Amino acid sequence: MAEEEKGAKKKKSFKAYKKRKTCPKCGAGIHLAEHENRLSCGKCGYMEMKKD
Ligand SMILES: [Zn+2]
Repeated sequence: MAEEEKGAKKKKSFKAYKKRKTCPKCGAGIHLAEHENRLSCGKCGYMEMKKD
């Protein structure tokens, strides 16, 4: 039997933003995820609109 080659591993590259905000609900250590026009916390679901 032929073994299936799993060479296509998708690597998720996280962009390191220096201005990442922390979640006001979760506190320091939990950063908000950057979206196109908003920031959101993946832990508690907090969302914040970008003002730029
Ligand atoms: Zn949070």
